[in-house]
Amino acid sequence: MKARQEGRKIEQTEREAWERREPRFLLTGLVKCGCCGGGFSTIGKDRFGCGNSRNKGTSVCPNRTGITRQDLEGRILTILSERLMDPELVKVFAAEYIAERNRLAATHTDDRAVKEKELVKVIKEQDTLVNALTAGLPPERIKAKMEQLDIRQKQLQKDLASTPATGSTIRIHAKMADTYHERIRSLIAGLTEPFRKSGAREAIRSLIGKIMATPVPTKGKRMSLDLTLHGDLAGILALSLNADRLSGHQKTSCEQEVDQSVGFLVAGACLASCFAMSKAIVPPCPAVAV
Ligand SMILES: [Zn+2]
Repeated sequence: MKARQEGRKIEQTEREAWERREPRFLLTGLVKCGCCGGGFSTIGKDRFGCGNSRNKGTSVCPNRTGITRQDLEGRILTILSERLMDPELVKVFAAEYIAERNRLAATHTDDRAVKEKELVKVIKEQDTLVNALTAGLPPERIKAKMEQLDIRQKQLQKDLASTPATGSTIRIHAKMADTYHERIRSLIAGLTEPFRKSGAREAIRSLIGKIMATPVPTKGKRMSLDLTLHGDLAGILALSLNADRLSGHQKTSCEQEVDQSVGFLVAGACLASCFAMSKAIVPPCPAVAV
């Protein structure tokens, strides 16, 4: 029994170490196949392709188009540095983000007002009961009601304490794009500096939700891969607003909700429903030969 527990412990430690390990390349694990949704993996020296297609065959996935690591990384870094923070896109992004944030903040404010009102009512009712007691009403007749009010009062106070009275402080400001550009340039430079490489890589990866790689016809016979970058909103915001996401900054529940609901970003460089758009533009995956 003990040996089994020990074994499990070792297994767990190994798995944790595996999960913590540094990714082999900058984009390892982030590229998905636009045809089958499976992961892209190494298919040769410095070359990536759809793992399902290579391992399970073209009946599972027809995408046989590969890409070199250099090409893949170069194109993604270009999108991140040159196209992600195009001023027009930032405007759209900021407007959408602020609208969503305000909507959520309004919901929270409404909720808070209702609870505050109820709390006043509960306290009043408690007073009434106490008055009834002092006027001579037998305690057993109001005991249950008193307990009920007490429980509700505690719950309301707890809820109110955990809902911030005012919105949190992140604002989209005019310098957002500048800050982003400055920091992304520094991170890309850091990729080639031995002592900064690991941190730069981690920071760049935190900007990327996933990259979809879909084959498209070229003028010649060969197909090439269309890359669609889906940005990670929280990571991009942290970089753009000069907040260090890795420093353990605790997000308010409102920020978390915004992150989840504004789930858009960046196809090459388009915003909003970019994935749907890229799906519409890109022709269906070819049932092509090897
Ligand atoms: Zn595939």
